[in-house]
Amino acid sequence: MSTLTVDTAKLPMLLTQLRLPTVGRLWPAIAETADRESWPAAKTLATLLEHETAERAQRRTARHLLEARLPSGKTLDRFDFAAVTSISKARVIALAEGDSWLAQGTNILLFGPPGTGKSHLAAALGHAMIDAGYRVLFTRTTDLVQQLQAARQDLKLAAAIEKLDKCHLLILDDLSYVQKSQAETSVIFELISARYERRSLLITANQPFGTWDSIFPDPAMTVAAVDRLVHHSIILEMNTKSYRRKVAEADSPRAPVKHANQVMDA
Ligand code: ADP
Ligand code: MG
Repeated sequence: MSTLTVDTAKLPMLLTQLRLPTVGRLWPAIAETADRESWPAAKTLATLLEHETAERAQRRTARHLLEARLPSGKTLDRFDFAAVTSISKARVIALAEGDSWLAQGTNILLFGPPGTGKSHLAAALGHAMIDAGYRVLFTRTTDLVQQLQAARQDLKLAAAIEKLDKCHLLILDDLSYVQKSQAETSVIFELISARYERRSLLITANQPFGTWDSIFPDPAMTVAAVDRLVHHSIILEMNTKSYRRKVAEADSPRAPVKHANQVMDA
């Protein structure tokens, strides 16, 4: 009995060393149940480790969600597919529920005018991939270009691009806002080349490829970038009106009329 006391006294330290916080929290209660119900030792051990694994997955997902910097609230269940007839709901759901595209390094390209839900859909797919256990980063393309540019000035561009490799899905929002300058666009080109056929990019842009010569100043670089992006890619085009404007239009036309009636009634 005294041996048992000594052993359990060491448990908190051992479990901390082994990084098993859930076992550390749960073992007294589970051990008590096990003793009371005469569980076989193997069952007790399995129960403790199952709890640890489940909570570890939750902690990892929570950490990935923080790292990903996704805009909040932009999930798939809040996306109204009826508003974008050019996008197949079934196809998007299949992308959210299956991860084979991500495992193969396939890119997703989302095109459409401003306000049509590109960023929302990109974030929603990001959420889905985090839930599936992957690592994601959502960034405005201009912000990332600035970071990579700074890294290049410190001669650390290759290291910065390699660091992004840990993100299975890199979401570059608003590629077409990148300013046309040789230095800036070549870091994007290097990023695209480095991830080619290995790691997925999800790119949103107001303009489809036809106008990308205005992003990449050198036409040869535009062709090479588009070529790599498109080779293994899924292209979704939002051919619709701005969702923001639609909502505004649905709300506003009645307002002045109502106001006039109220004035007349008064
Ligand atoms: P874009 O990135 O194409 O400019 P956003 O994704 O930022 O557009 O969409 C603008 C706003 O409208 C956001 O608040 C977004 O959540 C909302 N929105 C756009 N399309 C939809 C949609 N189909 N269903 C629900 N909300 C939408
Ligand atoms: Mg956007």
